[in-house]
Amino acid sequence: MKVFKFGGASVKDAAGLRNVGTIISSFQDKDIIIVVSAIGKTTNALEKIAVSAYEGGDYQEALQSLIAQHTGIAAELGLQNEFDFFGDMLVTLAGQNSHRSYPQFYDQIVSIGELMSSSLLSQYLLSAGIANTWVDAREIIKTDNSWREGQVNWEETLKAVQNTLPAALKSGHVVTQGFIGGAPDGFTTTLGREGSDYTAAILAHCTNAEGQWIWKDVPGVLSADPKKYPDAVLLPELTYYEAIEMTYYGASVIHPKTIYPLQQKQIPLYVRSFLHPEESGTVIATDNKFIPYPAVIMHKSGQTLISITPSLTTFVGDMQMANIYAIFSRHKLRINTIQIAAQSVSIVVDYDAYLLESLMADLKASYSKVGVRENTDLQLLTVRHYNEDLLKKLMGDKKVYLEQRSRSTVQFLYE
Ligand code: ASP
Ligand code: MG
Repeated sequence: MKVFKFGGASVKDAAGLRNVGTIISSFQDKDIIIVVSAIGKTTNALEKIAVSAYEGGDYQEALQSLIAQHTGIAAELGLQNEFDFFGDMLVTLAGQNSHRSYPQFYDQIVSIGELMSSSLLSQYLLSAGIANTWVDAREIIKTDNSWREGQVNWEETLKAVQNTLPAALKSGHVVTQGFIGGAPDGFTTTLGREGSDYTAAILAHCTNAEGQWIWKDVPGVLSADPKKYPDAVLLPELTYYEAIEMTYYGASVIHPKTIYPLQQKQIPLYVRSFLHPEESGTVIATDNKFIPYPAVIMHKSGQTLISITPSLTTFVGDMQMANIYAIFSRHKLRINTIQIAAQSVSIVVDYDAYLLESLMADLKASYSKVGVRENTDLQLLTVRHYNEDLLKKLMGDKKVYLEQRSRSTVQFLYE
């Protein structure tokens, strides 16, 4: 049994949905688990609607245009689809903003994108003679109530998947939503932006699938973002280990949480182009293989450097480090890079105005007398399998704030 994941770009319009049907039909299998993201940029639009609805602003126009976009695609595909249902749901939810925290509210609103795209896809496939059952992911992906970053309850999820999917797959494919899950109290959670890859991996893991396929608008995993680095080449093969390293350092082609559930069961991951489905793309499988990689470049913009001098009377010690780590973890800021010197600690994180404000307040409360400084708007470049010529070419005379090297990986933080 196979698990396919189609991202927002692959279903952005009627032609995209037809193409998804063609790809599915090109396989002999009649029992594929199909995980779909929200159409095009729907999630971004819903995020704006959520903010506006929460603050009591006017979101009606944005909402109507989103519904019209979905209804338009349905009409073009000859479907009698009524998305007013989701619109009503949104309006009701938006009216209930006052007694929920924003992150909880966000999840209830933003999850509607996947509910809409999956019902559209399921109905289109039925109309094209491709048998399938629409399954509500909130009934099978069970999470805690960490809003916007639902943590999977594996035991409950495995039980729910085994109770639901084998039966549904007897009568054809299954179409379900990426990115969303169900909290114990019946509310919806989301798994973090771009989380549909992860959903597909969870389902592949729980069903012991023969493989997971991610259908993208790029030929596979490339050695760099081709928009920024025209010399980027396709990586035909990666170990799980290499793929985890790449996603950790910022390769956005696969969601970082995707690989572990697959690696545990040695399920291969195929990253393929939905525009050229006949091409072989990238396969991520096994760790027991030597693969000669070219240099691989990962780039993250919007980085913030926080420099902390914990004390003027002693070196940076382990108690201070423990406290600093605890503060970062409490504020849910992931450390991208850290460098510890004799009297100061430099920490690089993604810029997030909301999280940083409370983090800085806490750090300053601990270390006000000595010093906490912040530099924003920096770039973090990570190169794996580097060589000196390439580094010279990439960095030129850029102003470097921090540099860190191991045998395989080098990182530069620069302006
Ligand atoms: N639709 C969600 C997002 O855009 C999840 C995904 O695309 O994987 O973040
Ligand atoms: Mg998306």
